[in-house]
Amino acid sequence: MEDKPLLRSLVPDQISTLISASSASAYRGQQLRQWLFKHDATDWEQMGNLPKLLRQNLAARFELTGLQLQEKQVSADRTRKFLFSLRDGHTIESVIIPMADHATFCLSTQVGCAMACTFCATARGGLVRHLSTGEIIEQILRLRLDLKDEPLPGLRERQFNVVFMGMGEPLDNWTALEPALQTMMHPDGLAMSRRRIQVSTSGPAAGLRLLVAAAPGVGLTLSLGGSTDQERRKVMPVPGRTSLQEALTLAADYGRVAGRRVTIAWVLIKDRTDEPAQAQRLAQMLKGHNFKVNLIPLNPLTDSPLAPTANPAVLAFQQILTDAGVPAFVRASGGRDIDAACGQLRRRRQ
Ligand code: SAH
Repeated sequence: MEDKPLLRSLVPDQISTLISASSASAYRGQQLRQWLFKHDATDWEQMGNLPKLLRQNLAARFELTGLQLQEKQVSADRTRKFLFSLRDGHTIESVIIPMADHATFCLSTQVGCAMACTFCATARGGLVRHLSTGEIIEQILRLRLDLKDEPLPGLRERQFNVVFMGMGEPLDNWTALEPALQTMMHPDGLAMSRRRIQVSTSGPAAGLRLLVAAAPGVGLTLSLGGSTDQERRKVMPVPGRTSLQEALTLAADYGRVAGRRVTIAWVLIKDRTDEPAQAQRLAQMLKGHNFKVNLIPLNPLTDSPLAPTANPAVLAFQQILTDAGVPAFVRASGGRDIDAACGQLRRRRQ
């Protein structure tokens, strides 16, 4: 592993401090931030308005890029899936999902994952390592450059949303995620609205507490997978160690400090998570709180017996929730024809 950190691991304010410490004029800091976060520079040579000596000094201490494209797949539904290799040879996935008027970027926060969820391809290899802030931010830059090269026809907005629903458990890597969120929302960073960012978590209590304390204002999705602690542990063994009650209470606390409704993600697996009794219990748990539910029929893995819930049972599950006054939506997962289900591309390549 190279010892030089990625320059994009620094947040915009740290970039300014770095430049003032190097006794260059302060406006150089602003120019550098624009190259990093606005023009998506991938080569020091691009930064023509910065003195060569300054660039050389930066290059001696920092690496400008850390991701290399290994493979790109495009689905019939126009979902684009990317496999990137990191400087140490490990690989991660990122996805562009075309929506009605914008694109959604689905990003990774770890190489692999320690949560061992039975339905998820990323879980199979366990956790390899955390991503750095720079590696998280560079995924956005790479996807944005790809959209610039090959625009999505019919897209009205150049804006994009970010969901942390790729590989890894974001709240187990809060140390890198927190500065990444700062850079994403900073006016001299990526200048994104907090409304366009969604962190998805399996709900480790320690991580949820850090999120509540920092209150970054971004959206929160809590992946549930069970209506009792026992049920949840079967499907999500590691997250199941945090009690449902505690995870839901912390998620609701976050919803209050952020002033936003929290989303509950529920993967529908045939005969495992789609029983009407489970829907009833889920409805009882969520009723009267500021939650909505996204129901996600399982994206089947090639080497697993788990199957998605059939459509009539999906609608029945949804009906039980809405009848109880809990808003519930069915979410289709994109890119089924291109290994897009959560870590399958990396898995095939290994
Ligand atoms: N660890 C975080 C983020 C990564 S998983 C979390 O658990 O939320 C992102 C979402 O993808 C989760 O809601 C998870 O339940 C869902 N998911 C994982 N594998 C899936 C599959 N095979 N089919 C459908 N959804 C899946």
